[in-house]
Amino acid sequence: MSYEALTSRLREIGTLHSVQRLLGWDQEVMMPPAAARFRGEEIALLASLVHEKATDPALGDLIEAAEDALRNEEDELRSANLREIRRDYEKARKLPRELVAELSLAGSEGLEAWREARKSNDFPGFLPFLERLLDLSRRKAEHLAPSSDADLYDALLDEYEPGMTGGRVETLFRPLREALVPLIARLADSEHPPPNTVHELRIPVPEQVRFSRRVAGRLGYDFQAGRLDTSTHPFTEGLGPGDTRITSRYQDHHFADALGSTMHEAGHALYEQGLPKEEYPGQPLSEAAGLGIHESQSRMWENQVGRSREFWVWALPVAVEILGEALAPFTVDEIYRAMNRVEPSLIRVEADEATYNLHIMLRFDLERALIAGDLLPADLPAAWNERMRSDLGVDPPDDARGCLQDIHWSMGAFGYFPTYTLGNLYAAQIWETILQDLPDLPSEMSRGEFGGLLAWLREKIHRHGRRWPAAELCRKVTGRPLDFEPLVKYLEGKLAPIYGVK
Ligand code: ZN
Repeated sequence: MSYEALTSRLREIGTLHSVQRLLGWDQEVMMPPAAARFRGEEIALLASLVHEKATDPALGDLIEAAEDALRNEEDELRSANLREIRRDYEKARKLPRELVAELSLAGSEGLEAWREARKSNDFPGFLPFLERLLDLSRRKAEHLAPSSDADLYDALLDEYEPGMTGGRVETLFRPLREALVPLIARLADSEHPPPNTVHELRIPVPEQVRFSRRVAGRLGYDFQAGRLDTSTHPFTEGLGPGDTRITSRYQDHHFADALGSTMHEAGHALYEQGLPKEEYPGQPLSEAAGLGIHESQSRMWENQVGRSREFWVWALPVAVEILGEALAPFTVDEIYRAMNRVEPSLIRVEADEATYNLHIMLRFDLERALIAGDLLPADLPAAWNERMRSDLGVDPPDDARGCLQDIHWSMGAFGYFPTYTLGNLYAAQIWETILQDLPDLPSEMSRGEFGGLLAWLREKIHRHGRRWPAAELCRKVTGRPLDFEPLVKYLEGKLAPIYGVK
């Protein structure tokens, strides 16, 4: 009985939280610009109501009663659910309600200020918002940290990747970097890099939208339980049972970028649509096992699938049919090579698979220094440009294409960035296992059949929600802890032959 009382309370909190997130989706996709201030108030109010319910001592009593009742039962799923419910409750209890509301409001205001600052390349205009968000985030971390001398960055990272620490990220990133830098240099020396011609095609946006919809549907994204819209920053919002929305973005001279964004978000959405949300509404068992695993799903569909030769055997004729004759002169091999062009560039979201991780490492180091107080927000542009030069050999011409390019810090999301490269690492390691388990997958992909892959992901990953922490899920699925080597092997194995280098 007590367990049922607890889960019905969680359902209510989960529903309220989904209303909050629906307002957030609207803010990004539909809302008129003049509504920004009022929307900030609406979201902050809902955030603090959700927080109040999630920290209600009566909820604590229900959790305790359920723990007592379950003590003598062997019910692995319920125990896992309760373990995570307890974890969420304890974490939420550590944060004062005023701070939650203040952070939410500062995030909405920061977002608006960032949009303006990015448009007009005005970092000084954004600086006070950044300083405030940093200050609030540090205060949040102080509340969340297990002890007064604990690392503040770890407390923030734990929000996005439970159980992960900055130190552990470093031990994964360092050897990855040591392998990637020379690989990228070797590719740059190639006599036969893939030409840029495919990327220079101009394709009208409406055709690109149709192509995006066709591909997303083919991968298994359920349009009866979702929508595909347009936004500045593509994202996925899993609102609840039957409602998982994605966005993409389109420019007539960047069809590959739009396709990549759509496949990426469809990958997130396939995970959301595969979580048992009907069965466990508002409960941890119906939530993702962390952002790293979430990102592994999006990356896998975007990269391991979308940048494979097999995918293009199926997709090229479809692209010619929908996008038009401009693509007709290209062979599958030419498209495949073009999709895997590696070139250091300014913008993270447009980066290729290899240099992408260097963009992340830069952000990880800088945000860690910001939180630690080793880097002042005012010095961020100089530090950013310095690292872009030394790590990628490119020189940002302005802050809009430098430290203002990403949305995350403007919403106070410090500790988020490393989950992208963690996602790449998980994806490569899980992909190795998939290819062993599904030997026919490459030929299925060349026929545009993705059901076998999706069924595997649903069975091994999606349906389990937060049953196991990400590190344990990784061990269960791949047989070993997360490692940097599968990603290096995957990139070497694909890119060296494309570039004709050893
Ligand atoms: Zn993503």
